[in-house]
Amino acid sequence: MTSTGKIVRIAVIGATGSVGASVLDICSRFPERFRVMALAARSNADKLLEMCMRFRARYACLAVSSAEIARNFQKNGTELLSGKEALESVAELPCVDHVVFASSGTGAIIALQRALAAGKDVSLANKESIVAAGQWVMPLVKRSDQLRPLDSEHSAIWQCLRGEARKDAARILLTASGGPFRDFSVKRMENITPEDALRHPVWNMGAKITIDSSNLMNKGIECIEAMRLFDMPPDRVGALIHPSSQVHGIVEFNDGTIKLLFYRPDMRIPSLAALAWPERPSVAGIKELEPPCPEEWALNFYPPDLVRFPCLRIALEAGRRGGAYPPLLIGADEAAVRAFMNRRISFLSISNIIESVLEKYSGPSPSALSDAMELISEGERMADEICSSFSGR
Ligand code: NDP
Ligand code: MG
Repeated sequence: MTSTGKIVRIAVIGATGSVGASVLDICSRFPERFRVMALAARSNADKLLEMCMRFRARYACLAVSSAEIARNFQKNGTELLSGKEALESVAELPCVDHVVFASSGTGAIIALQRALAAGKDVSLANKESIVAAGQWVMPLVKRSDQLRPLDSEHSAIWQCLRGEARKDAARILLTASGGPFRDFSVKRMENITPEDALRHPVWNMGAKITIDSSNLMNKGIECIEAMRLFDMPPDRVGALIHPSSQVHGIVEFNDGTIKLLFYRPDMRIPSLAALAWPERPSVAGIKELEPPCPEEWALNFYPPDLVRFPCLRIALEAGRRGGAYPPLLIGADEAAVRAFMNRRISFLSISNIIESVLEKYSGPSPSALSDAMELISEGERMADEICSSFSGR
């Protein structure tokens, strides 16, 4: 039971994915605190139905559905919402207190806006929305801690900043494991296959973010995410390689004090921190979530190599330039990763293609959310076009 005696009623968008699984694992372990009311996914109807039955969810939502699928959900006691605005309706359900955004891509940007505008508590794993459209999302946050980061690094920064005045924070540093190619030479990277890149040494995540982590694009995207979430100028946000991934975020304060946040690399820990805030329920007895003993602590940090990992440099530059560049970056990366997964381009071509898109663009900065969405599509279209003409392999 929470200290107020209230059960938190939760909706999970992206329930069938990797972060969705961590969030739902936490919900199932703390039934006295959390009640799952609604679950949403894109197209995986079978898995979503199974989860709705397990959690007795009242509502489900699919972006891609059919009348037959809806009947199946109905038979099992869950109302299926689908079609235009369905995700937005989930975000605004009166029977939901807290909406978790754990979907991939940018399909949930408007739902995120609606959830915040409706005054819901929001836990956010999806980084594409904030990077591409943070300008139209962050002003909707009405109270401190209404928006709680789920991404491990951002959760760490959020927790380090708790009780601190934002003006006292001099610098934010996000850690990266360095991925499977941390010690590879550029020459050795030439023949990397999608299977190689999908083998992350620390985290078990969805395919897109795993590829992004292998070339450090993920860290670059996360740095832009941190600029938006914590309102920090680009020159005060950076990244550090920390192979054991036990420290997730670091805040340096003006007075020389440094706070580091340490926990086992398991997404269930930041999930619990966000869902239960401001309380810290005990994980005693959940062996994998308990704090490691000091002998297991390995605090090695070193700066990232921006020559071997140009994606980090490109993303940091896009963050510095702002305007059209972050949404273009999101679109171009989506298309380049897809082409790599489909074996149309080589691993090393990913950065070349994204950089070409950003260099080629000469249009205006977005002045509305619709412009930012258009720029995501434009980045994707430009990258697809370069991939088609590219003989990168
Ligand atoms: P996965 O690929 O494992 O899962 C994606 C989920 O999003 C699936 O449930 C998918 O449904 C759903 N989805 C996609 N598009 C839509 C849509 N338009 N409407 C509703 N649901 C949708 O991804 P991850 O869990 O790895 O990542 C999710 C997000 O969290 C990404 O933004 C990622 O960068 C971020 N993140 C991930 C971390 C991780 O550990 N995995 C850590 C920190 C952040 P379906 O199954 O039907 O396709
Ligand atoms: Mg992360």
